[in-house]
Amino acid sequence: MTELQATTRQRLDELESRFEDLAGHFLGYPTNQDFDYSALLPFLSFNVNNVGDPFHDSNFATNTHEIEREVIRRFGDLMRLPREDLWGYVTNGGTEGNMYGMFLARELFPDGIVYFSEDTHYSILKITRVLRTRNIMIKSQENGEVDYDDLRESIRINRDVPAIFMANIGTTMKGAVDDVSRVREIFDDLAVTRHYIHGDAALSGMILPFVDDPQPHTFEDGFDSISISGHKLIGAPIPCGVALTRNEYVARIARSVEYVGVMDTTLTGSRNGITPLMLWLAWEQYGIEGFTQLVAGMLDVAAYAVEHFNSAGIPAWRNKNSATVVFPRPPADIIEKWQLAPYEGIAHLITMGHVTRDQIDQLAEELVAAGPVAQPA
Ligand SMILES: *Cc1c(COP(=O)(O)O)cnc(C)c1O
Repeated sequence: MTELQATTRQRLDELESRFEDLAGHFLGYPTNQDFDYSALLPFLSFNVNNVGDPFHDSNFATNTHEIEREVIRRFGDLMRLPREDLWGYVTNGGTEGNMYGMFLARELFPDGIVYFSEDTHYSILKITRVLRTRNIMIKSQENGEVDYDDLRESIRINRDVPAIFMANIGTTMKGAVDDVSRVREIFDDLAVTRHYIHGDAALSGMILPFVDDPQPHTFEDGFDSISISGHKLIGAPIPCGVALTRNEYVARIARSVEYVGVMDTTLTGSRNGITPLMLWLAWEQYGIEGFTQLVAGMLDVAAYAVEHFNSAGIPAWRNKNSATVVFPRPPADIIEKWQLAPYEGIAHLITMGHVTRDQIDQLAEELVAAGPVAQPA
């Protein structure tokens, strides 16, 4: 390999300084910037590959399967799935975990209908297209939670087919949590015995286990599979996440592949072996106590933001146990500067670990200076 040319070096330097500038105004997207994985740099010199099922052997020896299993056990404990029932793997992010859950559901119930609210992440509609599953979009309430009456009615008229519910554990725009205890009541009332609940817990899957009064979010509450993002609340330079489920479901789809000596239970073949190391290191560094503090700090800043915005005359609000602060959509220059996420008439900021009260104060000042905002396009 040759030395880097000056022009190549320059391109990298420019990119790095652009990222550094942007990092100071990063409020809209749910990715924590506050992490340090420098201890893992030496591993970038190996062909690390976690191809195959982390709970089975692989012929590809430079893998981090053992570390990956530890990561899955940490998340599995968090989501209260007994170790002997637990299966999972480290994904490329929330979408892959959602697709995995929907894949299992479809294999268990090939004629099932997927129900999801209109506030559900855009990945779900795509996944139902890829998997060619029947699906019905359900109305949402104003706060972003599924409309239980509309859900009941839709399931009622399709009582003859299995119901697959895609539950939001923290919607993308409003941080709303669907109450699966109410969804299970609907199944019971209508005597729908063939059902499956997948939890899209991209962000709030790492919030609810650490608060005093969480909404239902564990396997004990009736979930059959759960997807949690790693690069969001925890933070990582490479997108990642975990898919968790019961091993009995996975046994239904497993195939063994002689060439790589693995069980082919994951969606992709070759898999990232570095991201399991990152999640493992994050767990080593935080532990339950560290995450509890991180989450408490995030929710404090979110509460501060709502209060501070409201006292400045900006009608901001948030859902229970959510770090997502919703307010009227501001002008484009403010959205761009703070990298806020807009949707129709609203925008949000998310008080990830790196977000400070000072930044909230500054943004509030700019919002007030900008005055009342035009209605949605
Ligand atoms: C971010 C997000 C996803 C998708 O995660 P990716 O990592 O971008 O694939 C899914 N659902 C919700 C609610 C999200 O916020």
